[in-house]
Amino acid sequence: MRKALLVWIATFLSFVFAVEIPASMKPWKSNIDRLSEFEKHVVIKKGTERAFSGAYVYTKEDGIYRCKVCDAPLYRSSDKFESHCGWPSFDDAIPGAIREVPDRDGKRTEIVCANCGAHLGHVFRGEGYTEKNTRHCVNSISLQFEKKEKQAATAPALAKAYFAGGCFWGVEYYMEQIKGVSKVRSGFMGGSVKNPGYYDVVRGDTGHLEAVEVVYDPAQVSFETLVKTFFEIHDPTQTDGQGPDIGSQYLSAVFVNSDKERQVVNRLIALLEKKGYKIATKVLDASIFYEAEEYHQDYYERKGTMPYCHRRVKRFD
Ligand SMILES: [Zn+2]
Repeated sequence: MRKALLVWIATFLSFVFAVEIPASMKPWKSNIDRLSEFEKHVVIKKGTERAFSGAYVYTKEDGIYRCKVCDAPLYRSSDKFESHCGWPSFDDAIPGAIREVPDRDGKRTEIVCANCGAHLGHVFRGEGYTEKNTRHCVNSISLQFEKKEKQAATAPALAKAYFAGGCFWGVEYYMEQIKGVSKVRSGFMGGSVKNPGYYDVVRGDTGHLEAVEVVYDPAQVSFETLVKTFFEIHDPTQTDGQGPDIGSQYLSAVFVNSDKERQVVNRLIALLEKKGYKIATKVLDASIFYEAEEYHQDYYERKGTMPYCHRRVKRFD
């Protein structure tokens, strides 16, 4: 009985003190879920780590410092200098990476990641440390450092492609098997509602489609191969959804990043239509991709089962 009470109290307290994720950071919810309570305290609640306690106070290695929440590149090691203030200090940021906002204290200027809004620290000017006369005083804990060697190793400029073909679990499952694809995430695209959750999209009125983001290495696999695979793992002729999943959120679409991609998709659609398929797939401009909740990612891989909604049908020669 006492145990049940303790569990209840613990649950209640964790609910009361849970750090709520601001709307700007929701697309990176799965990253935030992996952060420690103190990391959340700093990036979301605008906390400050103790002076001289952070991992990057003294680092001098070549590389870039990325946002802990969204991975955006924020600072270069070449702009880092020794300020003896106890926090990593930079006299400049990567252009456009940082947003300055008045601090709640009415005096200082807070700096946040321009991409996701994560709290970084403060910026001070006129102290005369370096020629640029600027000090970005940043919490180590808001950053993650990427060494230059690693950048070179991972540098094969990855590209992203976006597909909607019904239930995203199945599309993700098959796209992940393509050689040259490094990551596939399930999410939503095409609607007007910001930061939608699965149950918002299920209602069918957000305008979003269940979609996947395919991260791939163009040196290993072409966009055309991805599109061909996409047309072979779902039924591009179905007009009201996909398989048993009926509704506007399950429609077939390719979201293109450029006219070049649009031409590839249109050419392949023309090819299929020549073969007698009446293609329902829409070709739309890519917009913001909102990642779905973590339990939707790698769904079949984690369950160890095969997709109910998708199967492979050869449609190209
Ligand atoms: Zn960020």
